[in-house]
Amino acid sequence: MNLGVTEPPPEPGSRKPAAVANLAIAFVLLVCALFIIVDLVQLGVARREQLSDSTVALTNVARAVQRHADDTIKSADVSLIGMVKLVENEGYTPSGREQLASLMGQSATALGQVHAYFAFDEYGRSVIDSTPLYAQLDVSGREYFQFHRDHATRDAYVGPLIKSNTTNTWVITVSRRVNHEDGSFAGVVLAALDLEYFRKFYDTFDVGKKGVIFLGTNAGTTLVRRPLYEKYVGRSMADLPMYRDHIAQNAAGLMTMKSVVDGEVRLTAYEHLQYYPLFIFVALSHDEVLAGWVSDTIMHACGIGILVLTLAFIGWRLVRQIKLRAQTEISLRETRDSLNELNATLQRLALEDGLTGLANRRHFDLALQEELSRATRNASSLALILIDVDRFKQYNDLYGHAAGDECLRQIGRAVKAVPRRSGDLAARYGGEELAVLLPGTDVATALQIAEELRGKIAALNIPHAGNPIGNVTVSAGIDALTPVRAGDMPETLIRQADLALYQAKNQGRNRVCAATEPA
Ligand code: GH3
Ligand code: MG
Ligand code: MG
Repeated sequence: MNLGVTEPPPEPGSRKPAAVANLAIAFVLLVCALFIIVDLVQLGVARREQLSDSTVALTNVARAVQRHADDTIKSADVSLIGMVKLVENEGYTPSGREQLASLMGQSATALGQVHAYFAFDEYGRSVIDSTPLYAQLDVSGREYFQFHRDHATRDAYVGPLIKSNTTNTWVITVSRRVNHEDGSFAGVVLAALDLEYFRKFYDTFDVGKKGVIFLGTNAGTTLVRRPLYEKYVGRSMADLPMYRDHIAQNAAGLMTMKSVVDGEVRLTAYEHLQYYPLFIFVALSHDEVLAGWVSDTIMHACGIGILVLTLAFIGWRLVRQIKLRAQTEISLRETRDSLNELNATLQRLALEDGLTGLANRRHFDLALQEELSRATRNASSLALILIDVDRFKQYNDLYGHAAGDECLRQIGRAVKAVPRRSGDLAARYGGEELAVLLPGTDVATALQIAEELRGKIAALNIPHAGNPIGNVTVSAGIDALTPVRAGDMPETLIRQADLALYQAKNQGRNRVCAATEPA
């Protein structure tokens, strides 16, 4: 008979709480990492796009500045061609002079970039000019004069840069050679272009605080630089790496370089003029180009930071909940275990006799019923020994009730110690009567066991002055159903064993009697 408490089986598919918590932590970390990685990739793409857009805009501005410079010089130069023709046809006759002065005046008025026109004879003396300020000039020592005098070419000569002492303005000269009829040198006509005209045009472009628009000669001399125009005019940049390694080498190009002048990293587009030995470059500060991207990045970082912190907080709460649940589960399991233990103790107590530690009457009755059914099914035998202490009333009277109890305890231990099979059950049947249930046992074997029990109890030598033999003895009655048949009642077996016990008492006690003779 199984009277133990069964453990509940573990829930199928349930994970250990620590593993679930770790999984939750890993999940939250993964999500946070993914957010950060995706955002970093997006920021990288946005940065590249920003740089690429700025490069396109920069190249367009450079192209516009280059075209402007070419066109500005070209239109002044075209007027010089007309003047050369006029001088060569008319010479410096009074009518020729008059026509030239008129042409110079008209052209200077029409072309905003022209500061003044000049005509010099073959000795470099000023013959006529569009403004009376320069009347008595002698330019025989000037570079452009000597160039035209010494070279037969009819091309325009650009340069040098001159600061007018009278008007305090910087001008760049464009000049052409005038020939006599025989092709010999007859002088020079010259247009002085106001650099302020270029600067004003460059001011119309927004290149940021650190951006630069630059016009220079192919020899590396600065003509116009926006901003800080005055400070840079006439300076040579021939030795700077950006000029030496890039501008001097290519017709046009793009580069990102750190300035050796101010340490600023700039994105630069440069281009040489198509018709004149000049170049321009436009440069944007790398930092300024990326300023919008940087502020976007800061905003993104804040957003992602808040998102990641929120996620981390939710994750932390989740993990805490999982751990709390796990703790609750553990304490519930502990409570259940202790309840089970208590239940087992209660069951044991409900089935055990408090004095002797043997099975109690209730347990005996259940076992008898169960073993009888089993024996019926198996057609096996079932034996019962009923034991009664001889003259126990007297024992109590002689030694007291407590000694009587102790005597019963000793007898209980002796009965318990007799080796039996697993199905055997020793019980306190009531008062000082004990019962031993022996499944699968016939009368003969039951007799042997009963005799052994009786002997053991007698051998305990518990003094009993009221018993003729001088110590405590027991009488036993036995019976067996061999085999148990359907319809056999527990009462029958008990009654038969009881009758045998009665017989043993009658025959003088301290003995064993069987209700039926052993086979
Ligand atoms: P007999 O030999 O005919 O059995 O004589 P007896 O005196 O034993 O007679 P009976 O069986 O009628 O008496 C039982 C006595 O056992 C009565 C009661 O005082 C005593 N007794 C029953 N239960 C207990 C118990 O739990 N403790 C003690 N100390 N005595 C008990
Ligand atoms: Mg009795
Ligand atoms: Mg008795």
